[in-house]
Amino acid sequence: MQPTRELLLLLLPYLLAVALPGAVGGSGRFWHLTDLHWDPGYEAAAAAGRPCPSGGGRAGPAGPWGSYLCDAPWRLLRSAARAMRRRLAAPDFVLWTGDDTPHVPNEELGEEKVLHIIANLTSLIKETFPGTKVYAAMGNHDFHPKNQFPGKEHRIYKQTAELWQPWLSDASLPLFRAGAFYSEKLPGPGMRGRMVVLNTNLYYDQNDETAGEEDPGGQFQWLEETLTNASRADEMVYIVGHVPPGFFEKKRGKPWFRRGFNERYLGIVQKHHSVIAAQFFGHHHTDSFRMFYSPTGTPINVMFLAPGVTPWKTTLPGVSNGANNPAIRVVSYDQDTLQVLDMVTYYLNLTHANKMASAWQEEFPEWEEEYRLTEAFQVPDGSAHSMQTVLQRLSRDPHYLQLYYEFNSARYDLEPCQQECRVDHLCAIREVDFMKYDECVKTNSSASAASSVWLLVFCVFVGFLSPQRVL
Ligand SMILES: [Zn+2]
Ligand SMILES: [Zn+2]
Repeated sequence: MQPTRELLLLLLPYLLAVALPGAVGGSGRFWHLTDLHWDPGYEAAAAAGRPCPSGGGRAGPAGPWGSYLCDAPWRLLRSAARAMRRRLAAPDFVLWTGDDTPHVPNEELGEEKVLHIIANLTSLIKETFPGTKVYAAMGNHDFHPKNQFPGKEHRIYKQTAELWQPWLSDASLPLFRAGAFYSEKLPGPGMRGRMVVLNTNLYYDQNDETAGEEDPGGQFQWLEETLTNASRADEMVYIVGHVPPGFFEKKRGKPWFRRGFNERYLGIVQKHHSVIAAQFFGHHHTDSFRMFYSPTGTPINVMFLAPGVTPWKTTLPGVSNGANNPAIRVVSYDQDTLQVLDMVTYYLNLTHANKMASAWQEEFPEWEEEYRLTEAFQVPDGSAHSMQTVLQRLSRDPHYLQLYYEFNSARYDLEPCQQECRVDHLCAIREVDFMKYDECVKTNSSASAASSVWLLVFCVFVGFLSPQRVL
């Protein structure tokens, strides 16, 4: 090869970038925040020495920055907003995946109060990022009665659309009023990205409104059409929503979607995966991810589940230690392909923040960097391929599994994740499909039980243990 030709080949990507602006994307960043769950009664209850309203009678110390038994006091949310401004004040856009109200019975809320809370959090985010585009999704708590989202027009959809009107395009407004889902082209010149914001509360098994329906709100059909159009227009898409498909990694056999809805969603991702760059959801309050595979087992997509801002310890029976430290996340991405390049998660060590606080005086605590995806798991980016590598590392190396497990609760639960915990997390990450998840749990539980038996036999054989000591 001639040296000049070699040089030309080396310079080709740069020459192309100059000649075709917009064809080669730069990297951008956006915030993903979720599950703020403001408890408006926190401060008054703490001042009166009563348990917080969202604690469900669970009494505990109510610190100035929050409590693991409670939803977020306003000052915790303000501190999150401040941390976001300090870390990245001008993101390309913000993803906000819902759940604004406290975990209290319906009787303590009501339509007006729910909308008042959504309005307050909308203002907080608007003031934190003035002029920034926010893609907001409704969470199952952003309705009254909670979870009961209809697949048709509703006052709450209309009023929420009013609140979010500055963030919604003219085309999105009527769609939002009719079902609280929409799709928009990403801002910026030369961008070929599209955001698809879903109302997956329609698929939640706690939603009685849509229980017997095949395609509530026509959202599945709309999603298929939107993805087909995106493919024709050579766009790449992020899918954003609150309640995710698949299983909760902290409770064995606990899905959120009804079976038929889970199948349909999975089928759509398999069919249209080539235009879906990634999926971003909330609802778990924990930090995890979900893999999607082709029918032949090739990794084709990944869903990132962002940890919540509320530290609230779940009351879901069977979950042990189900609280988390408040967390927020920055995603870096390729502005052209929407490929996820990296993710940095920041968290507030709530125990530490409360300990350091001098009474109830305002002195904002530090939200620390918790981890960077590529560094912690030694992968080049957040593609489906790389996340499959992460999953393999978690499966094979207890060091990585433990690291993931500590991030799962934003370093609240530092217990070792072994046996059942390992199976619960790995099967939830790997299998979004109901049947495959069940198989995964069955196979791996019997496999780990069998390996324990073999280990026991081995120990007895070499004389480390006597059968009497085991009993
Ligand atoms: Zn939530
Ligand atoms: Zn939720």
